[in-house]
Amino acid sequence: MNYHVPLTAVTLSTTPYTVQYTNMTDRPRWIEGSVLERRYTLNSFHFHWGSNSRVGSEHLVNGIAGPVEMHLVHIADPYRTVAEASGDTQGIAVLAVSFEISSTENLAYRELLRQIGDVSGRPPMEIADAGIALSSLLPPDLNLYYNYQGSLTTPNCEENVQWFLFARPVPISEAQMATFRTLMTADQVSIVDNYRPVQPLNGRSVYTSFLPPSRAMATVRTSLLKYILLRNKRILIICQ
Ligand SMILES: [Zn+2]
Repeated sequence: MNYHVPLTAVTLSTTPYTVQYTNMTDRPRWIEGSVLERRYTLNSFHFHWGSNSRVGSEHLVNGIAGPVEMHLVHIADPYRTVAEASGDTQGIAVLAVSFEISSTENLAYRELLRQIGDVSGRPPMEIADAGIALSSLLPPDLNLYYNYQGSLTTPNCEENVQWFLFARPVPISEAQMATFRTLMTADQVSIVDNYRPVQPLNGRSVYTSFLPPSRAMATVRTSLLKYILLRNKRILIICQ
């Protein structure tokens, strides 16, 4: 909800681990439905990327990584910060967007990448009118996604995140990827290969909102899969 409303006042900053938009206080943007039993309000979003296009994403589908991945971090009502939500097993929901290399520029990302280029090597920027509609950054078919319960990929990695990885990637060009790969913190430290290696599923279930092609799978390297169609149209993938 409200994802189509362009961002106005935001803070754009680098950390040793990522580049992130925070303090989106102009109006709440939220998600609800699917497996979520509450409303989850957008808190921030950030990116993970690789030094070349064979690595960068934190999720692998069919064992293949994308060049970059965007995480939109949402916090369950009534919490207001990630720290507050961390004690709740359903405290956080993350929408993850995957990317694939395209031969043409993705114009929807032009302004965002211009802003990210501007903050490179600089202290946090307060942007009065960011002008970016988050809906334009998402893939076209939001009904196709993988879902599982997992952890944040940064410390302390609490297991309180409902992950939704959209199945359709967003195109991005190699020239656009260069903006990420040349990013520096305010202390002039390069930020690259800031993705966490895939983790074993540890018995977790991965669900999809669609019937997956055989052997399609997020996050795992295992082989044989079975699916069970659940009542609410989610599909459980069982790894063996
Ligand atoms: Zn992340």
